[in-house]
Amino acid sequence: MGNILDSEIMYLPGVGPKRAELLQKELNIYTFGDLITFYPFRYIDRTKINKISEITDELPYVQVVGRVISISEAGAGRHRRLTAIVTDGTGRMELVWFQGITWVLKRLRPNVDYLIFGKATRFGAHFSIAHPEMEIYNPQQDVITGSLQPVYSTTEKLKNNHITSKTIMGFVQTLIPMAIGKITETLPPFIIEQNKLMTLPEALRNIHFPANTTLLHKAQQRLKFEEHFYIQLSILSRQKVRQAKVNGHVFNHVGEMFNRFYHERLPFPLTEAQKRVIKEIRRDMLSGKQMNRLLQGDVGSGKTVVALMCMLLAVDNGYQACIMAPTEILANQHYESITALLGDLPVKVGLLTGSTKRSERNNLHQSLEAGELNILIGTHALLEDVVKFKNLGFVVIDEQQRFGVMQRAKLWEKNSDPPHVLVMTATPIPRTLAMTLYGDLEVSVIDELPPGRKPVKTLHYTDAKRNLVFALMKEQIKRGRQVYVVYPLIKESEKLENLKDLEDGYESIVRAFPPPEYVTVVVHGQMKPEDKDYSMNLFAQGKAHIMVATTVIEVGVNVPNATVMVIESAERFGLSQLHQLRGRVGRGADESYCILVSQVKLTKESRKRLETMVTTNDGFKIAEVDLHLRGPGDIAGTMQSGMPFDLKMANLATDGQLIQHARQVASEILDHDPLLENPRNSIMKEQLSRLEFHRNDYSGIS
Ligand code: ADP
Ligand code: MG
Repeated sequence: MGNILDSEIMYLPGVGPKRAELLQKELNIYTFGDLITFYPFRYIDRTKINKISEITDELPYVQVVGRVISISEAGAGRHRRLTAIVTDGTGRMELVWFQGITWVLKRLRPNVDYLIFGKATRFGAHFSIAHPEMEIYNPQQDVITGSLQPVYSTTEKLKNNHITSKTIMGFVQTLIPMAIGKITETLPPFIIEQNKLMTLPEALRNIHFPANTTLLHKAQQRLKFEEHFYIQLSILSRQKVRQAKVNGHVFNHVGEMFNRFYHERLPFPLTEAQKRVIKEIRRDMLSGKQMNRLLQGDVGSGKTVVALMCMLLAVDNGYQACIMAPTEILANQHYESITALLGDLPVKVGLLTGSTKRSERNNLHQSLEAGELNILIGTHALLEDVVKFKNLGFVVIDEQQRFGVMQRAKLWEKNSDPPHVLVMTATPIPRTLAMTLYGDLEVSVIDELPPGRKPVKTLHYTDAKRNLVFALMKEQIKRGRQVYVVYPLIKESEKLENLKDLEDGYESIVRAFPPPEYVTVVVHGQMKPEDKDYSMNLFAQGKAHIMVATTVIEVGVNVPNATVMVIESAERFGLSQLHQLRGRVGRGADESYCILVSQVKLTKESRKRLETMVTTNDGFKIAEVDLHLRGPGDIAGTMQSGMPFDLKMANLATDGQLIQHARQVASEILDHDPLLENPRNSIMKEQLSRLEFHRNDYSGIS
């Protein structure tokens, strides 16, 4: 963009140094450019005014034109509140403030028409809006701003310093005529034409002061497209550069280990989906390019055996392989299931975790460096510098969401030529999000569960119905089955309180399931590893009926005889966590149950989460709902570190089609001009480096 946009915000007429400091601190607005890309978060549509008599509970927000007819204060200190009654001639309603009362009192004028906006809540016969947005009603203003007036987010501090949404609108109104002629386009003309986009100056004008909803929509489309386009261009061009620079190990030999495993050891026929994924991976391994593949498969879909067979391919071709899991419990389980699957095949497998004894650790290091060890299984411990492979050819990262991007990169550096990488996740990521978050990875999906699995039956009970839950547990235990009871681990700071939940829960379980008839074990994150393992093993060997646990068992634990998963305070879990936990049962051929226990009173969101769990077992559907409920910014916490640039307009949850389109456009351009050297692509090259300059910490991902 042109230089004027780099001007410091304090030089905008009407701003000055004091307000500039506030705008910087509170809204990150340093320059004219920051202001012009500080988009409104909603618009007041002056044509849509509700009558007070027609307000219903269903309306998410209301906008009324009302006159204040009385003002009263009640309470003191923290309980102080201010109430104003307004009327519009069709009825009356109440406005309430709990904070900033003095400020409101100073400004609230009786017998003046206000435009009032907010969520109306019913109290008995009348409606009330807490902390409404208000401004003096001035129908004439439409002439200046059009019928859609922008609303900007502000903070308490800004409001206290008299910088309201209105004030910001004023700044933008000053800025637009100064700047608009000097803004340079950030997309090349052919893209604007082909995709029927608004030009940048037009889009910026209309995003702040849209003449009508059609133009607003077009402005939004343009700005969203641009953000998605540059994200995809960045991801795809890095991918191209990497593919051009880095040679992949070629595994062109299907040898003894793979074949013997397949014919002698594989305990079940592979599902079609497993076969397809192995083929996809093999194709990559033959391509001469380094593989970076994301394997998505719902819990229990059989990712481990796929990973193992690919590791055997590496071994057959003279390379070492490793698998990294996020927890010790999981690493142990991988070790056990993989050594069991391999049986007497002459493949040397090692286990390296935080609790591996020093002497054993030294042995492992040595045999790894000597190339005697074929497969290493472990936790973060694998990342330590002392862990050196002779020739690492293939890396599996299980349960990706637990690892940061930087850790992924660290494993790639364990070999002079980077190894092939398979990232496995049991938390399905909606396609659109995957395209962006993992846009540099190829994606494989196991979309089929092994045969004979019955879908887990999910039931929701409130606390009061606990006797029903106990009855179901008893009945299943009588049939020889086992039960998990899980308590939430909320925040680090609440650890102690949480343990108390767990301990109380344990006591009530032991009361209902008294020893020695019943054996109940406890597992939680703060136990010593050996105590934890002892409990886990009792349960895994079928010697305990009930395991009371925190979410340490969330990922990967595999006890097929366990058929009941009771989740306490289920309303406090996120959807993907609930789905993970449910995946711990339903692993054998028996009917399994997931029981969600919650309090009666639920927020709308927790109700939706529990309903979703009861109505579907499909991990992808659950992931979509999750994305919508939480907003993409929250997903796996990877968002900010995983995104090349900040998103101002784009929405990963709802822009699915647009993302796909933008990726298509970016990919076609790079197919013809991978380094963006063609003069007609130079705008893009410049814009990309400008964006990447502001976000250079992204380099870790590729
Ligand atoms: P996840 O994808 O959740 O990691 P696992 O790899 O742990 O799943 O597999 C879950 C269970 O299903 C394991 O007990 C595994 O042995 C079994 N399994 C995997 N593939 C098949 C198959 N094709 N047929 C039958 N059982 C299978
Ligand atoms: Mg697994």
